[in-house]
Amino acid sequence: MHTPVRRALLSVSDKTGLVDFAKFLESRGVDILSTGGTAKAMRDAGVAVTDVSDFTGFPEMLDGRVKTLHPKVHGGILGIRGNADHESAMSEHGIAPIDLVVVNLYPFEETVAKGADFDTCIENIDIGGPGMIRAAAKNHAAVTVVVDPEDYDAVKEAMEANDGDTTPDLRKRLAATAYARTGAYDAAISGWFARQVGDELPRRFALGGLRKQTLRYGENPHQQAAFYTTGEARPGVATAEQVQGKELSYNNLNDTDAAFELAAEFDEPAVAIIKHANPCGVAVGGSIVEAYKRALACDPVSAFGGIVAINRPIDKAAAEEITKIFTEVVIAPDADEEARAVFAAKKNLRLLLTGGMPDPAEEGLTLKTLSGGFLVQSRDSGRVTESALKVATQRQPDDREMRDMLIAFRICKHVKSNAIIYVKDGATVGIGAGQMSRVDSARIAAAKAKDAAEAAGAEQPATVGSVVASDAFFPFADGLLAAAEAGATAVIQPGGSMRDDEVVKAADEKGLAMVMTGMRHFRH
Ligand code: 5GP
Repeated sequence: MHTPVRRALLSVSDKTGLVDFAKFLESRGVDILSTGGTAKAMRDAGVAVTDVSDFTGFPEMLDGRVKTLHPKVHGGILGIRGNADHESAMSEHGIAPIDLVVVNLYPFEETVAKGADFDTCIENIDIGGPGMIRAAAKNHAAVTVVVDPEDYDAVKEAMEANDGDTTPDLRKRLAATAYARTGAYDAAISGWFARQVGDELPRRFALGGLRKQTLRYGENPHQQAAFYTTGEARPGVATAEQVQGKELSYNNLNDTDAAFELAAEFDEPAVAIIKHANPCGVAVGGSIVEAYKRALACDPVSAFGGIVAINRPIDKAAAEEITKIFTEVVIAPDADEEARAVFAAKKNLRLLLTGGMPDPAEEGLTLKTLSGGFLVQSRDSGRVTESALKVATQRQPDDREMRDMLIAFRICKHVKSNAIIYVKDGATVGIGAGQMSRVDSARIAAAKAKDAAEAAGAEQPATVGSVVASDAFFPFADGLLAAAEAGATAVIQPGGSMRDDEVVKAADEKGLAMVMTGMRHFRH
């Protein structure tokens, strides 16, 4: 059945592209109905509009809470075309069909993000808008619904190609988008309400996202993937500007996020190099070019094809050093002109600039899917300070050891468990990640340090005279002994094992200083 769009209702908070689209509709002879601000914007641009209040014979009222909530609007949207009963009821009550609904909602998410007060947030909960969107999507057999200005062109093209009609496929696709929008909108409102009463993990948990990018594939080429954003304003991969380079892949995005969140842990200049979501080198302090060189020295073999995150604007010297080896992605708050020029010579390198650093202490939730559901937890914003540490051994750590231990433990938070991290003078010198046994992580970290020393022609591995951090307690003394053997002089770990006494005794026998954090940093 051919049913060209004859009547459209436009009611939008985001007026992007509105006038152009309205002019197009007008040019095709479509009657335009609209609400207060939207009608004004179109009239100001010379488009002829009928006010919804004239259409319904009922004024907009209650400060806009009731504008379009009227049987003439909802009947016009919902009535089944070609259904005799519906059509006779519509004509009996003077309900004219509405074929196109263009609605985008009160900016609830933006209002919350701006830190508006409670009442302002409440007033920004759109009621009539979602009602119309859901009604139009339900009646997609005849009605076209548009919730994103981005979709105006698709509707325009379809109407041009189909003599004023849209296609069933397009209407179904737009209906799916419509329900995703109202779903995400209600998810945002629900999350906000729950937070008002400190209930971060409510009985029902809703989630919404906007597809930012369809990815070429997922973790592997046979998997489909897309990148969805939640609208959080946090500086990072979701909000960064990609200045140059190829399209980011699923793995790039995952690794870049891991890298940037790690670099954000430090106030001093810091560089993190990531491979497969684990750091293969981190350095803190000094200039960023020095920090990069020291991060790279930890494991230069693994760093090839890695992701580099820096918590300072990039300068030319750092850019020159980074581009000496193949690097997939560089992410930083900014880069100066000279640095950009250096990167520009490496066409494939993806450069992401975020405009700022995220606050690692910021609250938030992380999510993991599993079959039949998903796990939600608060972000690991835990941070150990010197005053919270308990020295367990006879020997007290010295200042240098203390500084390095705090850095090492902070890095642990970003390394897959079991994590063992050796740090010397603010730089990692050995990283053991993702092993099923802690002693294996300790051995691997030491072995990698040995390899790096041999490759660099050094006399001894850099673990000699380093400190070591463990993300969780040592269940036995063996992991600690492996660290002592590698030359570590001080140990930072959560403590709390049944065999803490045994581990402390071993540390004392080896002359190590050991501090307990009382905080664990598992990451899986
Ligand atoms: P306008 O700028 O045209 O005055 O308002 C447009 C906004 O009003 C749109 O975001 C639309 O979703 C919303 N809206 C339309 N009808 C109603 C209604 O009956 N109640 C409420 N609360 N919002 C509505």
